[in-house]
Amino acid sequence: MKVENVRMVLVGPPGAGKGTQAKMLRERTGLEHLSTGDLLREAVRRNTPLGAEAKAYMDRGRLVPDRLVARLVEERISSSPDGFVLDGYPRSVAQAAMLDEFLERAGRPLTHVVSVEVPAEDLVTRLGGRRTCRECGAVFHVRFAPPRTPGVCDRCGGALYQREDDREETVRARLEVFEKETSPVLEFYRRRGLLRSVDGRKAPDEVFRSILDILGVAVGTDA
Ligand code: AMP
Repeated sequence: MKVENVRMVLVGPPGAGKGTQAKMLRERTGLEHLSTGDLLREAVRRNTPLGAEAKAYMDRGRLVPDRLVARLVEERISSSPDGFVLDGYPRSVAQAAMLDEFLERAGRPLTHVVSVEVPAEDLVTRLGGRRTCRECGAVFHVRFAPPRTPGVCDRCGGALYQREDDREETVRARLEVFEKETSPVLEFYRRRGLLRSVDGRKAPDEVFRSILDILGVAVGTDA
């Protein structure tokens, strides 16, 4: 089912399942999935000037400077005429304000903001067991969503690896950054009357149904 005119932000701590949900949304509704983490990792992989600058922040679990990330996002939004799901952006009130201003100028304001809520104590386990495909970016978990063959992507056969920033020391830094920098974004959107939340502890399919419900997409119909 094609869903149009949805311009949505998924907010949540690292490991809440935003990427998984955004990918499901893309497959089910055709909305474009814009993940700043994926865009930045791609820039690092290609060793672009932006990637080289971003890497030092990413490896420490810190936020990449706003001007770099905002440019990435604005370029991508400008070239996506239909709806989109932003995953991992905005991550600070400054970014949220920049995004608001940019979308306002483009006459395409946000329509939905969904907070994916998972208690902090679950996140370390989730991130520690996460394995990502080097080729296609698919995400697995050694315990909760293991691949059929350990270390091999079910989707494309690529090699799975543990992201540098999914190691325990960095995970703690990322969770602190979320608390301090990103959680105020929730209040920013609550004040604008845009914020809805879903229980991210549930199984991915259930979380997905809650999100479709918020979007007003009929649940249970075929894509
Ligand atoms: P993610 O894949 O969303 O967990 O992002 C991985 C890393 O990329 C983060 O820990 C940050 O270093 C960086 N990053 C991603 N999105 C942003 C953002 N909106 N602002 C600043 N840094 C970001």
